Amino acid sequence: ATPAAIAVATGRAAGMGLLFRKGRALEALARADTLVLDKTGTLTLGHPALTEVLPFGPGEEEALRLAAALERGSEHPIAKALLEAARGLPLPEAAGVRARPGEGVEGVVEGRRLYLGSQALMERLGVPLPREAQELSQKGYTPLYLADGERLLAAFGVFDPPRPEAPGVVAALKALGLKPVLLTGDHPVPARRVAEALGIEEVLAGVRPEGKVEAIRRLQAEGRQVVFVGDGINDAAALAQADAGVAVGTGTDIAIEAGDVILLSPNLFGLVNAILLSRRALRTIY
Ligand code: ADP
Ligand code: MG
Repeated sequence: ATPAAIAVATGRAAGMGLLFRKGRALEALARADTLVLDKTGTLTLGHPALTEVLPFGPGEEEALRLAAALERGSEHPIAKALLEAARGLPLPEAAGVRARPGEGVEGVVEGRRLYLGSQALMERLGVPLPREAQELSQKGYTPLYLADGERLLAAFGVFDPPRPEAPGVVAALKALGLKPVLLTGDHPVPARRVAEALGIEEVLAGVRPEGKVEAIRRLQAEGRQVVFVGDGINDAAALAQADAGVAVGTGTDIAIEAGDVILLSPNLFGLVNAILLSRRALRTIY
């Protein structure tokens, strides 16, 4: 192996908006056969819109205020949808707010401990979900639930569209012989809908951060060379577990620190360039 070839490759990469932070990445990318992709914020724009509000008890505006109060300090893309929808409303103080990566957030608002997050979170809390609330996911929206620990207060539907270049990127990666796998903490129905739109056949949904690591380990145990691409706090461990971890530059600091390669431009075609460049560099080296 010639360090010069590596230097040339990483230099060329920088010109394409790809930051190679760790040496192992070049070789792992060149040998990769499986590309595991996070959904929210990676394949999608990360700017979801709030599409529906179903209040159960408090009014619609009150439900929004409570949810937005919990999300005020959140780095998650979903938080933006709620904060934007609540713009102009006076938000109550939220105390002791804690992110539950891959599940949601919790905190104390107006003297009550409130939880906001996925269906899985509600199941863990033992909060029953009325049928209308469950139907949000059947429409293809990511469902979010606000509860006080016993009772559902509201359900929200959010939709985060895929990045416009994502279908082309997936097609290009397949043409390079890579198998794409969608790995997400989102509900299976909206996850499958996005996967279908992008041409991804394999979907692992409703997966918590530890589950993402396990899923990658399982693929590696089958002898696969795995690249993982992610953006969130919930992706850091998976980025480290993969043979190469690619962090989306617009993602959270924790993900960026865990990445071997950073996509500095938000355009996902950087991934295709990273694979091509690594393959070329390895041919030069060996
Ligand atoms: P992905 O793996 O697609 O990036 P995440 O693991 O970040 O998704 O989130 C999985 C699910 O957990 C979301 O679809 C949402 O239901 C819930 N969730 C996570 N973080 C938050 C948050 N800050 N506010 C509300 N819901 C959240
Ligand atoms: Mg994400």
